[in-house]
Amino acid sequence: MGVAELPPPHVLIFPFPAQGHVNSMLKLAELLCLAGINITYLVSPNIHERLLRHTDIESRFSKYPGFQLETLPNRVYQRNVNTADEVVMLYDSLHSFAKPFLRDILAPNSGGKPPVTCIIADGILSMALDVAEEMDVPIIYFRTIGASAFWAYLCIPQLIEAGEMPFTGNDLDIRIANVKGMEGFLRRRDLPSFCRVQDMGSTDFRMVLSETQQTPRAKGLILNTFEDLEGPILTQIRKICPNLYTIGPLHAHLKTRLLQAAARSNSSSTTTTSSNSFVTVVTRDQLLEFWHGLVNSTVRLIYFLTKQPPKSVLYVSFGSVTVVTRDQLLEFWHGLVNSTVRFLWVVRPDSIAGKDDKENYKATTPRELEEATKERGYMVGWAPQEEVLAHPAVCGFLTHAGWNSTLESVVDGVPMICWPYFADQQTNSRFVGEVWKIGLDMKDICDRAIVEKMIRDLMVERKDEFLQKAVEMARLARKGLEEEGTSFCNLDRLIEDIRLTRNIGKGHA
Ligand code: UDP
Repeated sequence: MGVAELPPPHVLIFPFPAQGHVNSMLKLAELLCLAGINITYLVSPNIHERLLRHTDIESRFSKYPGFQLETLPNRVYQRNVNTADEVVMLYDSLHSFAKPFLRDILAPNSGGKPPVTCIIADGILSMALDVAEEMDVPIIYFRTIGASAFWAYLCIPQLIEAGEMPFTGNDLDIRIANVKGMEGFLRRRDLPSFCRVQDMGSTDFRMVLSETQQTPRAKGLILNTFEDLEGPILTQIRKICPNLYTIGPLHAHLKTRLLQAAARSNSSSTTTTSSNSFVTVVTRDQLLEFWHGLVNSTVRLIYFLTKQPPKSVLYVSFGSVTVVTRDQLLEFWHGLVNSTVRFLWVVRPDSIAGKDDKENYKATTPRELEEATKERGYMVGWAPQEEVLAHPAVCGFLTHAGWNSTLESVVDGVPMICWPYFADQQTNSRFVGEVWKIGLDMKDICDRAIVEKMIRDLMVERKDEFLQKAVEMARLARKGLEEEGTSFCNLDRLIEDIRLTRNIGKGHA
């Protein structure tokens, strides 16, 4: 059979079952659906349920008949994973139960479905690599973090060999010499937070280390980044993983391709946004109530922004996982109010540590903070972040520097103040402040005077300087998504390579 006569390729996409990973890989899934590729998207039962209940996945994917959700067995760990212990439990259960499940799914004629011709697995799921090799199915990795943090993870064995890890003494400002390409600016504190361990034998550290080291076994590596953002680091990664597909920023790439598809079909029904939120609601009535609340709160929030002068508002959000203590919350609040800058602040109901603080933080808040917030601030439990960052009133983003938030800010040319919480965020924030110079890095400090000073710097004293750099980076991001742009061409190459997998593999031709 010639390639043209073969049935469409069928890709199994397997994200790590946590919100950030699932959202990001779902964008890739939609990009591939747009190219006519059949997708089976594999999630844990709890994520499956939450996707159906609380996101627009059904309407969003209803136009792609080749897309289907597949669910892992119930025995896979199904709680939210916010701590290292929970991540380890999830990993262990995936190793035990996902492997046999994958073997079944990959078996030729599995359940009468068309055979899987290629796997795209999250780059921290080496059990998928094992099964793919065993069953002779091509596998490509997708890593949801930035290239720079990924490269730092990949260099950990060199850091250990050179005696740079584990850290001796408490000085986190000591320069790191063995992450090539970052010698001039990387300090201990800028390495991914897992590198601060004393016990390198701990299960979570060994897991992080060994999962990244498996990456070169995959046939290729997809990264949600673009060449103009992380070029020198990508050059280093290519020495070890030569087949790199840099196709980001994915959220903007998806919008671009959806608009193209809409223009082609002249359809006005194609939507270019999707819901990024998994909120826990139980009954249908509660769900309806939630929807009304969400719609109303979104309208109110956009109304608040619309009333503000152009480029005057600081957007504050620490993503979907970060937890802060009440003391930290108050330091941020005082800093925000004392800066006299207008702000829109997302305080997720589950983001405050400690049950009592969670329930009472407003009741015990100093009156002057409440009043100043009424005057020039707005607080919500969740915000449509992409829309907020694109709003003309927004001029800065106080963020935890999660990779998706960082890219969303980059695309809209919004300068950042970074307060990283954990994992790759420590590295992302160093790049924001020191390499790209599109913001300030506030890591490891939570003090009202510093918060105030950095906000004044970003939003007032050095506003033009930061805006100029951020706008230029946004231009480069958009350039990568033009038809001759690197991210655009790399996605075309990925699609072509996936099509070619139809001819590869035992029993899969
Ligand atoms: N997000 C959102 N509204 C909020 C907070 C977060 O839509 O109020 C979205 C945000 O746009 C991003 C994601 O949640 O796409 C957060 O991902 P990121 O990688 O930045 O951080 P994580 O939540 O994984 O720590």
